Amino acid sequence: ETVINRIAAGEVVVRPANALKELLENSLDAGSKRIAVMVKAGGLKMLRIEDDGHGIRAEDMPILCERFTTSKLRKYEDLSSICTFGFRGEALASISHVSHVTVTTMTAQDTCARMAQYSDGKLKAPPRPCAGTRGTTLVAEDMFYNNATRRQALGKDSIEHARVLEVVQRYAIHNPTVSFGCRKAGGSVAELSSTGGDSATSLDAISVIYGQNLAKELFSFKVSSEDPSFVCRGCATGPNWTGRSSVMIIFINNRLVECGPLRRAVEAVYSPVLPRGQHPWVYLALEVDPATIDVNVHPTKMEVQFLHEETIGQRLQEELAKHLREHGG
Ligand code: ADP
Ligand code: MG
Repeated sequence: ETVINRIAAGEVVVRPANALKELLENSLDAGSKRIAVMVKAGGLKMLRIEDDGHGIRAEDMPILCERFTTSKLRKYEDLSSICTFGFRGEALASISHVSHVTVTTMTAQDTCARMAQYSDGKLKAPPRPCAGTRGTTLVAEDMFYNNATRRQALGKDSIEHARVLEVVQRYAIHNPTVSFGCRKAGGSVAELSSTGGDSATSLDAISVIYGQNLAKELFSFKVSSEDPSFVCRGCATGPNWTGRSSVMIIFINNRLVECGPLRRAVEAVYSPVLPRGQHPWVYLALEVDPATIDVNVHPTKMEVQFLHEETIGQRLQEELAKHLREHGG
């Protein structure tokens, strides 16, 4: 059974960056306002996520990394705020099958923190009390120690590191009121530190993370409709941006996803406007009815399908085309 679980987990968690994505989402779901990530050897040696969220209750600790363990089902009645991407409660289970997981956590009701270690979905020893502050720190070590094939399929540490950093950058843009940090273990300077704060916007975060050169070329937009019901906000570069690679950051119902049809729809607006070899930088935050998202797509798989892709893509094209004309494209 362990072997089967390991193989299944290796299909779900294919690299440190996608484990990190799940862990960041957990921290955000816990209401964190500050999230600090530390990375060693591209995340393979160690991936550490520290948050100041609501923490994990003592009674939830033993089963934390078991499959289908989730505290979020009770929120399902609130469909507008939660998005049901397939199953729930699989991320920590999968991560614990491909690495050694240590969790330190403390809730507002606790008098001290608790620490527990997990492997293959199971708690290794009873949680023990330790010093700490409110929130959760999760450390995943030696990722794919038990899966040489998966390990070999990965790029160099520096490539995996870049992917990890990219995921943090994207969540920082999408969650500007949360302060994000990312650093290499042993490194003295943070590679990313967004300021957060209640009044911060995505544009502020972009400016801090990527600099003024990009930020000053961006226009913001919002397009929405009742039928099909959706809201899409975001920002994108105008005709003067000389970027050489296409950057398309797409969040659907607060999850970072890939969506081929939307990407192509956006690229089609820009290709007649931009000179050959130049590509746009686009950030899209789309909210759709969770019921219209294909629930057969696995939660940790990036590619997402949803109803009305084509209609939503067309509305977005019209909106972007209008802005490009206004900006002289
Ligand atoms: P899901 O997020 O789908 O519920 P996960 O496997 O990602 O499943 O997490 C399992 C459970 O562990 C969550 O439902 C949550 O209760 C708890 N949890 C995980 N990470 C955190 C965190 N950083 N802060 C608070 N609770 C957490
Ligand atoms: Mg989760």
